[in-house]
Amino acid sequence: MLESEHERDTTPAMTKRILIAGFRHETNTFSKLPTDMAAFEARSLHRGAEIAAAYRGTKTEVAAFFDACERHDWTPVPVVMADATPSGKVTRAAFEAFTAEILAALDEGGPVDGLFLPLHGAMVTEHADDGEGALLEALRAKVGRGLPIAVTLDLHANVTETMANLADILVSYRTYPHVDQYEIATEAADLLARRLAGEIAPGCTVARGAMLDGADHGRTTAPGPMTEVLERAARFRKEPGVLSISINAGFPWADIPFAGPTAVVVGDGPSPRYAEIAEALIGEIWDKRRRRTIAPVSVAAAMAAVAAAGSGAAEGPIVLADYADNPGGGGYGDSVDLLGGMIAAGLENAAYATIYDPEAAALCTQAGAGAEVTLSLGGKVEPRFGAPLEVTGTVKRLTDGRLTFDGPMNAGVSVAMGPTAVLAIGGIDVVVTSGRFQVYDRQYLKHAGIDPAAKSVVAVKSAQHFRAAFAPIAREIVVVDGGGGLTSANFKELPFEKLRRPIYPLDLE
Ligand SMILES: [Zn+2]
Repeated sequence: MLESEHERDTTPAMTKRILIAGFRHETNTFSKLPTDMAAFEARSLHRGAEIAAAYRGTKTEVAAFFDACERHDWTPVPVVMADATPSGKVTRAAFEAFTAEILAALDEGGPVDGLFLPLHGAMVTEHADDGEGALLEALRAKVGRGLPIAVTLDLHANVTETMANLADILVSYRTYPHVDQYEIATEAADLLARRLAGEIAPGCTVARGAMLDGADHGRTTAPGPMTEVLERAARFRKEPGVLSISINAGFPWADIPFAGPTAVVVGDGPSPRYAEIAEALIGEIWDKRRRRTIAPVSVAAAMAAVAAAGSGAAEGPIVLADYADNPGGGGYGDSVDLLGGMIAAGLENAAYATIYDPEAAALCTQAGAGAEVTLSLGGKVEPRFGAPLEVTGTVKRLTDGRLTFDGPMNAGVSVAMGPTAVLAIGGIDVVVTSGRFQVYDRQYLKHAGIDPAAKSVVAVKSAQHFRAAFAPIAREIVVVDGGGGLTSANFKELPFEKLRRPIYPLDLE
């Protein structure tokens, strides 16, 4: 053997370099609030070395991926992690800015061996119905087909054929509340490792049905359609060549052709079997489309339930979920119909988190802790969801709105809501804040000196995610859909124009 050949054979493999870029948004196209750069800055926007500082040690995909880099001896190349609270279409300027940033990193940061993209899967921009598809198209145009791309998605993704064609690996959450972000990113990273080692040739197959909503919207907190279809997927997963299966409940508040549930199979090499599996799973979702594990009630019925349950704070609070105005699905977070019902019912030892109203938060801040104020609260973003509430209360506490989640969901992640006040209206401590956030963590109350476990009644702006943190302390959970918000399940009343038809539940039973 020639010396030079011998040297070439034993040269240690170079450490692989993996680009990490997250650009996440769940777009409610019926919202009038555009999602611009400021919306990402208001929720979570980190670049370069800041990303590890913000996310390492948290229960998130990015944290899992940094850990995977250590495990597989990869060099992470973190570019950007951008996340905005669900709202209206992402502006073309914001989309192009983030895309350009990732492309520039590919140009200037040296060659990479793969891409890891923690995305959401339900992003709509001003110019593209399939935001993630448009991002992947731009990236593929730069890196070509040969470079592996691993993508993680929310289970409320509206997965498209473009996404499935352009990503090598797609893995979605399998829990709602989404408490497995770390685990599914670990799965995606380990598949990427096998692809980089040449062990597998992954590709994605997607199937969708004539449904806008299905799989019980993905809920996994009670046995139901989602847990059953996930169990079936786990059995299919054992078949030869099947590398991963994701069930996406979809995001129905999006007027785009392909909104709705999907099944995604990641398979090793091409096989007609993957499409059969995806179709079988979507068929099961269709068969079970009418089954729900929740039964939302009106505000009046919720107040009746509270009255019937009595005060009983020692047993923990009755938790009221404001389903129709969930900022986690694009709700404005300023609907006051449930709060109005609570005030009219004269509830004692109660709390409400949160009402998005920067104006009211500023008035409370100016008045100062201890002051009595009279102001109009909430109902300001879009008057068709109800007028503001005229209230008089006492400013109990002021905060800067900074908090770090206890979890389980997103444990360790920090957010800053901006100036925040606790306004006591009768027996109800109302957290009035300057930022739009879904209340899925007890810190939204605790950071402001409110112990939710000691309250008789706690109302939250959340549809389902709150269960991860609040179910352990709740005496009872009541889901309230008063209709007064952008995330009400009244799909038949929404002005769909682009959605494929016919579709359940608009045209099909
Ligand atoms: Zn989700």
